[in-house]
Amino acid sequence: MQIKKQIVSQNVINQRSYGLGNPKKYITIHQTGNPNKGADAQAHANIQSRLNPRQASWHYQADDKVVIQSFEDNVKCWHCGDGRGPGNTESIGIEICINEDGDYKKAIENAAELVKHLMNKHNIPIENVKQHYDWSRKNCPAQLRANHKGISWNDFLNLVKKEDKKEDNKDIYIVQTGDTLYKIAAQHNTTTKALIELNDIVTPDLIYKGQKIKLPTQKEVKSKQKYVRVKASQLWVYDKPDWNAKHSTVKRNEVFTIKRTLKVNGHTMHQLKSGLYITNNSKYVEVYEK
Ligand SMILES: [Zn+2]
Repeated sequence: MQIKKQIVSQNVINQRSYGLGNPKKYITIHQTGNPNKGADAQAHANIQSRLNPRQASWHYQADDKVVIQSFEDNVKCWHCGDGRGPGNTESIGIEICINEDGDYKKAIENAAELVKHLMNKHNIPIENVKQHYDWSRKNCPAQLRANHKGISWNDFLNLVKKEDKKEDNKDIYIVQTGDTLYKIAAQHNTTTKALIELNDIVTPDLIYKGQKIKLPTQKEVKSKQKYVRVKASQLWVYDKPDWNAKHSTVKRNEVFTIKRTLKVNGHTMHQLKSGLYITNNSKYVEVYEK
């Protein structure tokens, strides 16, 4: 699932939240209450970016096409009507769009996938996935509470649990002696970069035996991307397709994503995702596809 980030300005954070320090103990589900055409995730994200005229804020909005994040998870947003209670100060708020030009069921599925992602990321149990109603007795999420289109609140929780189980059983790897992130990535058809992002790893060189590493689901694994791994202990990368345009050196076992491949003075170079260039000489690098 792609989460688009459209984080609001500091000014909006100052005026529409209790600031940082949310311990992320709960997830609170809302539905927007706006069935109008065009009242989708982008429209709601834009309302928040421009400073919502209402004294309200929430972290994510989901529709049938996209999930957009407006506030970082550690912000204490205003979406539960409980003042400085646990709804506002300890939960992450998700608004599910109900715009009539969207696919209602798909929006629910996207929100369920987002909940699963946040539960895994912050270690939040399913018991702590709440309705807005639980905090202040507002009839929200109104459609789920009313079984709209045959989808009940329990159906929603089951969707979350179902996808959750898959990630628990299959997509966790326990680090063994001698493992490196590179090795784990190669064995599981993914990249070190993807593992670092998925697991919020800050020190990739310091993984330890017994550590649990989440693996990307197959949906998240891109097919047939080309990568180059450095074999030499040190190797130049270049600013442009010119063997004299030396930029800096990279180290053995560093892996880069290849954007395109080209000939420069009779030798092959790869342009990397970063925009820099590297040799294709198999004495110094190894190229592989995933
Ligand atoms: Zn609500």
